[in-house]
Amino acid sequence: MIHFIDSHAHIYLPEFDADRFQIIAGARERGVKEIFMPAIDASTHQAMMQVELEFEDCYAMMGLHPCSVGAGFEKELELIENYLQQRSFVAIGEIGLDLFWDKTFIVQQHEAFRQQVKLALAYNLPVVIHSRNAIDECIEVIKEFPGVRGVFHCFSGNIEQAMSILDMGLMLGIGGVVSFKNAGLDKVIAETGISRVILETDAPYLAPVPFRGKRNEPAYIEHIAQKIAGIIEMPVEEVGKLTTSNALKLFNKA
Ligand SMILES: [Zn+2]
Repeated sequence: MIHFIDSHAHIYLPEFDADRFQIIAGARERGVKEIFMPAIDASTHQAMMQVELEFEDCYAMMGLHPCSVGAGFEKELELIENYLQQRSFVAIGEIGLDLFWDKTFIVQQHEAFRQQVKLALAYNLPVVIHSRNAIDECIEVIKEFPGVRGVFHCFSGNIEQAMSILDMGLMLGIGGVVSFKNAGLDKVIAETGISRVILETDAPYLAPVPFRGKRNEPAYIEHIAQKIAGIIEMPVEEVGKLTTSNALKLFNKA
């Protein structure tokens, strides 16, 4: 069986409360061994860490999602620092900027993003970046911090943006969007190759074709891998091997 990794899945959310055990067992049956869980905010940190306790090879990140950055974001960041002092996490994430939903707190989003990149450097952890409608803005921020490691999760930008990210030494997280018609991500991947790509579902969101619009789950990683294999004309086994090795390195599990 091919060894896959889901580098980004919110399996601790209530969407999976009724069948989490089956969902994780189903992922294992499809070769998805490790599942990396990006944090959102204080309302879900406990649930995330509980899943980490209950299931092997499910690893928690710590961070404040840009869509959760509001007036009281400093309190959230304090909590994150407390957690980081208490125990280890695999990454700082997900963090970044979101200019799609609500721009009210854009100044605070920038502040929270930079503070968390500094935490990543201080704790020698990679960053997992959310950059919805804000890829260029996120690239500009990351440029201010040479030496930072990480991934642009759910990357869906153009080739120039992909090259800037790779030039900075970061990776591209590729998920269901690669299977969407007209997304154009296939052409980008055809050019970049996958030497610095990791796979992700972003479950429960962004399910790949043929499950588009339904609840996403880690078992669907193989559909993303197969799509990529077709684009770059590489055996899916090789796609699994390369992306798994990339993810293990990124999260210091190699
Ligand atoms: Zn996410």
